[in-house]
Formats: sequence, structure tokens, C-alpha cells
Amino acid sequence: MADIDVRILDRGRIHADKNFAVDGTTVATDSDPNPDFEYVPYAVWNLVIDTPERTILWDTGSHPDAATYWPDPLYETFAHVDADEHDLADDLEAAGYAIDDIDAVVQSHLHLDHAGGLYHFEGTDTPIYVHEEELKFAYYSAKSSAGSIAYVPTDFDRDLDWRVVHRERQLVEGVELLHLPGHTPGILGALVHTDPPLLIAGDEAFFETNYRDEQEMGASLLWDSRAWAESLWKLRDVERRHGARVLFGHDRDQIEGIDDDWP
Ligand SMILES: [Zn+2]
Repeated sequence: MADIDVRILDRGRIHADKNFAVDGTTVATDSDPNPDFEYVPYAVWNLVIDTPERTILWDTGSHPDAATYWPDPLYETFAHVDADEHDLADDLEAAGYAIDDIDAVVQSHLHLDHAGGLYHFEGTDTPIYVHEEELKFAYYSAKSSAGSIAYVPTDFDRDLDWRVVHRERQLVEGVELLHLPGHTPGILGALVHTDPPLLIAGDEAFFETNYRDEQEMGASLLWDSRAWAESLWKLRDVERRHGARVLFGHDRDQIEGIDDDWP
């Protein structure tokens, strides 16, 4: 087994209605026609996957100026309240790394809370891995009124050394990329062969309940719900076969419960 070390970077909190992550959390009913909504924190994290071959950064988080840089209606709904305290270079430094130490970046997808730090790699020869379907859909969304509002073109429409993943592949020994369409067309997860193995579900499952209880995310966060269900079963199969630990996309309880010797 490859000698792989995984460090988690806590990149702050988005505040948003819980219905986005867990569909039907709050539903008006005959006996309770005006229920209280739950406004909850969503964790934003990145990973440094340190392997003998390469030091890999998994996602780049939100742009530090999210409050002014994201479209107003989007920030009003998904407020990354402490993005300005979480510059990527600072959060990497706290974990003992510099931007220059990163040999490759994997973008699980190109939503604005995942691709906002790509500008650190502009004009460099650091390869940026992204799935073909994601890159296509991000540009389609950014350059037309179709697609999704969650792509901010200035996050990714830059001088970057894109490496397109067409299906699935091993990135380095011990890191296998998995295509998990559902939340977006080209979202990537990964199986990392640590001991025990780490299964990066990411935004396929925002919270643990999406994964364990097959609770869908809200409709606005599901590009294709049928594909989402298929990707979930695929992940569960990988989890079972490898006895893996699963890392969810925005689960604050999970992120805050991770201790130093994790995973
Ligand atoms: Zn996300």
C-alpha cells in the first residue's frame, strides 16, 4: 500500500436553509401550517492528499471575497460568512504547506464554493484535474442563461493547466477518481488507499443523512436525481468492499468531529 497522508483544511462555514441539503426538512402541514425554518452552518473543506508521487490538493474552496464576488441572490441564500478569514494560502500554511508545494489540484466540481481558489494557480504549470462533463457544463452555465447559477466564470475561466478526466482513472498509486454524476454532471469523488481507506463522497452527499438514509438534497442542488441515486449506490458498494470511511460534502458535525490522527 502506498504511504499516503491526508490532511483536512477547514475552509469555514456557509449559512443556509437546511432544506437545500435535506429535502423536505421543513414542510408546512395541516396541523403545523407555519413551521420554523432551520438556518444551519454548512462546512467547507479541502484536502491535502500527500502521496509519495505527488502532493495533491482536493478542491480550492470559496473565493475570499465571496460576499461581494458571488452573485447577490446566491450569497443571500448561501452566505459564506467567514470566507475572508480563509484564504487558501493561509489555510494551507496552517497545515504546513505552501501553494508551491501543490503538485496537482483535483476539482471535484466547479461550483463557487469549490473552485474559488483556482486563481492561485493561474499562469502556473500545476495541472488542474476536472471531469470532462463538469468543464463542459461549467462553461455552458457561465456563458449562457441555461445551466446553473452556481458557476462563477471568473473562478475557472482563467489561464489554467486543465487536465480533463474523461471517465474514471487512477490519479497516482492509491488515489482512484470516481465519477459521481447527480449533484452536477461531472462531479468527482475518490477512493484513497489510506488505512482504513478514505472514500471521498463530497457533494454527492452534503450531509451524512443524504448518504445513510438516501435523503435527497433539495431539487435545486440535484442536476439529475436518478443519476444521484445511482451514484449513491455505487459509493455504498465501494464503501462496503473496501471498509472505507466516507467523507461528506458539507457536514459540519463530521468535520468538527475529526481529530488529529484522522484518517
Ligand atoms: Zn459544495
